[in-house]
Amino acid sequence: MAKTAAPGYYRMMLGDFEVTALSDGTVALPVNKLLTNTTPAKVDQTLAKSYLKSPLDTSVNGYLINTGSKLVLVDTGAGSLFGPTLGKLLASLKASGYQPEQVDEIYLTHMHPDHLGGLTADGKPAFPNAVVRADKRDADFWLSQANLDKAPADAKGSFQGAMASLDPYVKAGKFQPFDGSTELVPGIRAVSAHGHTPGHTVFAVESKGQKLVLWGDLMHVAAVQFEQPEVTIQFDSDSKPAAAERKKAYADAAKGGYLVAGAHLPFPGMGHLRSEGKGYIWIPVNYMPLH
Ligand SMILES: [Zn+2]
Repeated sequence: MAKTAAPGYYRMMLGDFEVTALSDGTVALPVNKLLTNTTPAKVDQTLAKSYLKSPLDTSVNGYLINTGSKLVLVDTGAGSLFGPTLGKLLASLKASGYQPEQVDEIYLTHMHPDHLGGLTADGKPAFPNAVVRADKRDADFWLSQANLDKAPADAKGSFQGAMASLDPYVKAGKFQPFDGSTELVPGIRAVSAHGHTPGHTVFAVESKGQKLVLWGDLMHVAAVQFEQPEVTIQFDSDSKPAAAERKKAYADAAKGGYLVAGAHLPFPGMGHLRSEGKGYIWIPVNYMPLH
């Protein structure tokens, strides 16, 4: 038994843009303990309907968009901040035919360790030519020494991880926060979806009438939170607006019929939504190799 799998990438065209899903790996999460506004027994029951159980192998995905003039990476994976099963995004990116030096811009959906840890490798920028952008509300929250000082012991790591990962870019003048919903490059727009963190942002990618919205951590557990959108997770900074943004995004995606992608949906984490009853059905993308 070889017991290894190749670094993962999945590629498709979206109008004139090339979109590559990059796997950072998976991490086993005790989702029956982490999900809130439900009970562990109800989570176990719901998972069982999808032949799953807790702890659940949970994907961590980043997305690389080549617009033809800019190479943009949305989220960077965990780097060294989340243990040995994650931190594979750089290998996935190289396997997909690109080099980290080619990345022009990095957009962070938010500043949790599994989304920004890949910014640095051994304390140096992993993407030496990239400008990093994130909502200023997340920068103000996670890069604040005062917030680190007053955080409980078990929460300090997230602040320290954000500071260490962004520091080389800040020092080089390559961290440029944005303020709310705004177009970042032609065809890619930041859309505020605050709640999971103070500045949590989704990115709408559009080319030639085709649309993909990169959801970040708008939701975490596909087998539970499509059927039960009201279920929240302990990682939310403020779970009420997080749940409201999720419901709004689900309804819009189902109505618009456009593609969505989630940082923690099973790799490649891309698909469509169909509404059904009080919830939604997730329809993963068909496998379509480029020719
Ligand atoms: Zn996350």
